[in-house]
Formats: sequence, structure tokens, C-alpha cells
Amino acid sequence: MNKLVYIVPDVSKCKIGSDYTKSEWYQIPEENKKFITAIAKGSEVEFQSKDENGKKVLTFIKAIGTGESEPAAKTTISKPTSATGKTTSSGPVCEDCGAGLKDDSYKTCYKCSMVRKEKEAKSPEGLDRQRSIEVQAMIKSASDVVGTAVAGQVNFAEPTQATALAEFVVIVATKLLAEFDSLKKK
Ligand SMILES: [Zn+2]
Repeated sequence: MNKLVYIVPDVSKCKIGSDYTKSEWYQIPEENKKFITAIAKGSEVEFQSKDENGKKVLTFIKAIGTGESEPAAKTTISKPTSATGKTTSSGPVCEDCGAGLKDDSYKTCYKCSMVRKEKEAKSPEGLDRQRSIEVQAMIKSASDVVGTAVAGQVNFAEPTQATALAEFVVIVATKLLAEFDSLKKK
């Protein structure tokens, strides 16, 4: 008895099996995401998959016993129907837009979860990542500048010279970063 056990929040893959521990991951092709989100978690399903680069890719899925069997081609996932009998009015709703959700394990609908992800990129965590990229870029630039400036003049076998060089790179990088930040503010 196969059930749609779990769908990851971005709908890139799902688990199908008799229960969570006895299930397998299936990749969901982009064009089929909208169909699978119409099936409520825990629904009994009929499905087909193919192996692609060692991963199982879902080519067909249908909730069983809905009385609305879609004569879908085997390469497409059946269209969303009110397959589960759940009505949107009594079911869970999206926290952001209020649209009915088929699955109460999600807080938002697919569209709103994408919007949230975008916002996350601007969150403090996302900014830290951005900062790290900027710092790396400045260190790279500083290394290039210092490298060009001292080409052929530094004996790397000499520890004090190597240390001085490293310190010099840091000083230049720090100055570049400060300059960069003041440009960003303008
Ligand atoms: Zn929404």
C-alpha cells in the first residue's frame, strides 16, 4: 500500500511508501510540482518513476479512490482534483495569503514559501553570507595588488618576509573593504 508520505517544502522531492521509515525519495520534475501539491499527505497513491542519474524521478502519480481517475499519459502527473475530499474552507490555510492548503504540514502555500525564501536571503543570516563573499573578494583583490607590487622582491623562504607580506595583504584588504562599504552607503 503506497502513500504519499512526505513532500519537502520546496516540492523538489517527496517520499512514497507504506510509512515514513518504509519509504523512498522521489525527485519531482519542475513541471509536475503543481500536480503533486494537490495530493494530500498520507493519501494512498498510484505512481510510476524512472531512474535518472541514480535517482528516482517521479513520472506519474495519482491519488487512489477519488472516483476522478484522470486518463493521464504515463509521463505526466495527474492534474489536481479535489482528490482527497478535503474542502479548502475547513482545511488549513496559508499563513501569508490565506489560500487553502491541501496539507497542514506546511505553513504557507508554494508561492508564498518561495517569497519567504527570497526574504530569507535578506535576513541577517543571508547578510552574513553576503558579507563573507565581500570579504573574500577584497582579500583576493588585496592579494593581487600586493602580489603585483612586490613581484620578485619577496623571498618566500624567509619567514619574516612572508609574515610581513601576509600582514600587508590584510591591511590592504581592510582598507579596500572600508572603501567598498563607504561606496555602498552612497
Ligand atoms: Zn500563500
